[in-house]
Amino acid sequence: MIKKYLLAPGPTQVPPEVLLRMAYPMVHHRAPDFGPVMEEISEGLKWLFQTRNDVLIMASSGTGAMEGSVSNFLSPGDKVITVNGGKFGERWGKICKAYGVNAIEIKVEWGESVDPAVIAGHLERDPSIKGVYVQASETSTGVAHDVKAIGEIVKSYPGTIFVVDAITALGVFDIRPDEWGIDILITGSQKALMLPPGLAFAGVNDKAWKMNETARCSRFYFDFKKERENLRKNTSAYTPAISLIIGLQYVLKMLKEEGLENIFARHKLLAAATREGIKGFGLELLPKSAPSDAVTAVKAPEGFDGQQIYKRLREIYGITAAGGQDHLKGKIFRISHMGYCDKFDVIIAISGVEMVLKEMGYPGELGSGVRRVEEVFIKD
Ligand SMILES: *Cc1c(COP(=O)(O)O)cnc(C)c1O
Repeated sequence: MIKKYLLAPGPTQVPPEVLLRMAYPMVHHRAPDFGPVMEEISEGLKWLFQTRNDVLIMASSGTGAMEGSVSNFLSPGDKVITVNGGKFGERWGKICKAYGVNAIEIKVEWGESVDPAVIAGHLERDPSIKGVYVQASETSTGVAHDVKAIGEIVKSYPGTIFVVDAITALGVFDIRPDEWGIDILITGSQKALMLPPGLAFAGVNDKAWKMNETARCSRFYFDFKKERENLRKNTSAYTPAISLIIGLQYVLKMLKEEGLENIFARHKLLAAATREGIKGFGLELLPKSAPSDAVTAVKAPEGFDGQQIYKRLREIYGITAAGGQDHLKGKIFRISHMGYCDKFDVIIAISGVEMVLKEMGYPGELGSGVRRVEEVFIKD
């Protein structure tokens, strides 16, 4: 038997209590007892999103909310900025293209975060830009973009919305859409929210809703206005992902019990310990600065294949981490510490990395990474 440990940046581990809730007999979404559940999670989502605005709930993976954030607010031919600092930033550009939206792509070396001044420059030169689309945490590289600073810039353009994919940021570190000028904030269920895949969320403010009135991109399933009308009646336009919503109700209870500050502090500590453990074993991190507290991207040492490291972790030790994507494939591997994670998840990951690399002939000293992790934890 090989015991399994899920330490990938999505899907992430689901707490047993949540799994049990979702295994209860199916309820009907038009039956009277489902409305109060919707009402409760709507309020809970506002708390989690730190917003006064409605948070829409859709039955899809996170990309559904990304797509809706383009199609509901823009018209074909509109000009927007997308930040491509990794696989998910690149996706913004692809979605725009599918809708005939003219995306000016700001290319950032994968592993670095965008310089907000570059965005400011584009907006100054061309105020007809309708939107700025970025990731708060670029999961493919383990880098955080400074969405607070970008929000400050976009705020002063009344005809430009700021859209943030916070799929591996919300519930990991502090994001304040109402204060920071984030007009649309997105997340999904299978990352920090400790649920299976299948729910996408979008918090939308008045500035964005105003753009929705004139947006002409075609849309049907992801019709945000229709979803808002239904949400306000504690229901949804189509059959919701009922089991996941029941799970979310319990997740929100768990998160509220822990409190936002403690959630952010826990992720900060686990991320710091992971980075220290990696460095303690003599390895390097991919991010040059601004590493995300959700996931740690590690460079495979010279002469070692990152895909092999990640494969061996899974096949020999039952640890599912992640490899690199596109040109980073083979060059890096990634360890998640978001969601239902605590100190021993980090120890498992670092210990696994040490054993795998040692077996592959890497000269690091066994235990040197784990030792650093433990030092970080006991000092705390
Ligand atoms: C996981 C993820 C997504 C969405 O991917 P789905 O597979 O559609 O859920 C989008 N952006 C980021 C940053 C992600 O980590």
